Amino acid sequence: MIDLRSDTVTKPSEEMRAAMMRAEVGDDVYGDDPTANSLEERVAALFGFEAGLFTPTGSLANQLAIRQLVKPGEELITETFSHIVRAELGAGAAFSGITTRTWESPRGALVAGDPLRIARPDSGPNQVSTTAIAVENTHNFGGGTVQSIDEIRALREASLKMGLYMHLDGARIWNAHVASGVSFLEYGKYFDTVSVCLSKGLGAPVGSLMLSNKERVASARIWRKRYGAGMRQIGMLAAAGHFALDHNIDRLAIDHENARSLASAVHAVAPAVVDPSEVDTNIVILDLTGSSISAGDINGELKKAGILASTVGPTTLRLVTHLDVSAEQIITVNSVLPELVERAFKA
Ligand SMILES: *Cc1c(COP(=O)(O)O)cnc(C)c1O
Repeated sequence: MIDLRSDTVTKPSEEMRAAMMRAEVGDDVYGDDPTANSLEERVAALFGFEAGLFTPTGSLANQLAIRQLVKPGEELITETFSHIVRAELGAGAAFSGITTRTWESPRGALVAGDPLRIARPDSGPNQVSTTAIAVENTHNFGGGTVQSIDEIRALREASLKMGLYMHLDGARIWNAHVASGVSFLEYGKYFDTVSVCLSKGLGAPVGSLMLSNKERVASARIWRKRYGAGMRQIGMLAAAGHFALDHNIDRLAIDHENARSLASAVHAVAPAVVDPSEVDTNIVILDLTGSSISAGDINGELKKAGILASTVGPTTLRLVTHLDVSAEQIITVNSVLPELVERAFKA
């Protein structure tokens, strides 16, 4: 099977497994795991933060971060299709009493004016006050969209004046960096808290980090334990993270090339379905509006040909490239998918 459902499906390589086997470990709840500690220090330094916290999932890293910024009954604003409001099952409300409001943006691309238009800090005793803004980079459901650093900078400048915090959901910030050339330090500069994932395109089996200042990370460490995610000898997982950072960042460029190749092949037969110039990174969204066959049915046909994709809406398919998809497999997909799409519009 050629698995393009997500970049979460990657399996640790032999070399990564060997690094995990060799990891020095200790009880991380006691702060005794040297490999987890060094990973937290390393990733925090990479983005210019004082401290970091290893978490089992990106959702937990996001949730620990936003609860440091937003008090119960206060408001976090974010884009309508961002992971924090679409794919974390209401965790901000369920766990932290945080309310949310959203703005919608084509491809999830940040335009600073959008959040600024709906932000309402210090709203007094009758209306909810906005406390923080979350930005997703790259934007997953938007199609791997890389956010403009100019818009991020403009949003930071204006929101600081309004007394608002900013959180970066950087699950795929690695892809944004490789595509844009913007440094991790530069990305980190504009945010109060950051989450990053090691288990997406970087290929680690488990692991994310939440980054911020020492006080917020110390508090998040307590909340992580309270949520039941205080872990013991996690150096074996942290070693996979170190390995991923050492070996798997630059190669994301290959995934981006492969994604563009898929998009171009489909575009050649059905130009309205996908614009390759809008494929910034490793995610390809096919818009099958107007086709005689549903996205689910096309996905079923793909599966028969040994290709797995995600149906993300009645007329939308998502394909994600990653380090376990080879150039040869992309050639195979390009010999099957465009024909299927073409047929779907002709029938
Ligand atoms: C995958 C992802 C996360 C974290 O997901 P987990 O499955 O909880 O690790 C967070 N944000 C975005 C944008 C993601 O794509």
